[in-house]
Amino acid sequence: MQLIITDTWLAKTRAFHLNGWSLAIFFLTAAFALMLASALMYHWIFLKGAREGWPIIGSLVRLVVKDEFAQRDKYLRENIEVLARRMGEMQAQLLQLESLGERVSTLAGVPVPDVKSKPGSGGLLVQSHDLSLEELGNIMDSVEGGAKTKVDWLTVVESRLLEQKIKKMMIPTQQPISLGNLGSPFGWRIDPITGQSALHTGLDFSAVIGTPIQAAAGGVVVVQEFHAQYGNMVEIDHGNDLVSRYAHASRVFVKKGDLIKRGQKIAEVGTSGRSTGAHLHFEVMVNGVPQDPLRFLNAGSRLAAVK
Ligand SMILES: [Zn+2]
Repeated sequence: MQLIITDTWLAKTRAFHLNGWSLAIFFLTAAFALMLASALMYHWIFLKGAREGWPIIGSLVRLVVKDEFAQRDKYLRENIEVLARRMGEMQAQLLQLESLGERVSTLAGVPVPDVKSKPGSGGLLVQSHDLSLEELGNIMDSVEGGAKTKVDWLTVVESRLLEQKIKKMMIPTQQPISLGNLGSPFGWRIDPITGQSALHTGLDFSAVIGTPIQAAAGGVVVVQEFHAQYGNMVEIDHGNDLVSRYAHASRVFVKKGDLIKRGQKIAEVGTSGRSTGAHLHFEVMVNGVPQDPLRFLNAGSRLAAVK
């Protein structure tokens, strides 16, 4: 194909020789440009019409928006239904948890509190009308509140069970002296007699001579003797490789092999052995290794606080 353009401005006749391929590309480009132009035009007119509320376009837009709203509403409603169903399941599980908690509570000897779910609050599953978001929110709030009170209650049950376990395991958590000031702590210190740095393997309670010394936990007396360093001392084996030691006593009321109850008076404070004044030297050993007794005593007072 040959295209001849004659123009006075060009001053001469120009001839374009077009073969089949160039022709196809030319038409394709033209068609694309036309499509782009009409799309832009349509978009512009439609937007302008929608914005200014032109008769036909305006109602069309309203129809589309309404349909979209209806669909969104339906979607929301379906979601609320699913959520409501799941909330109902959660409520049922919470009720199961509650009765389980009651049984555990009875075993632990903790009275069941009066915070049980109101009867009928589990009736969500048989609700006939559609739930509103607000109603669902209220139900969620009540489930959340119920869960919170149950957590509080079960925490009390747990601490009670832990306390019972500690008593049973005979862990030395009870203060060996009820009236006494805490003296030297566990750890490295300047020895009051030699003046050199030495590991203090226990905890000192300064108290007047004759102050009762109580067993920090139940157990069996394994040592009761006069020791050059510890003076009159008692060692109680609590099982589980736990041993507590009470030193510098003035009087001792137990002997080797005696079965001791937690809190039982075993001796009286003195200053026997290697001591600079009336005090109780209290040690706790695990597998024969001295531990900081304060850790055990603190665990005991924390438990008492929870109680
Ligand atoms: Zn000491």
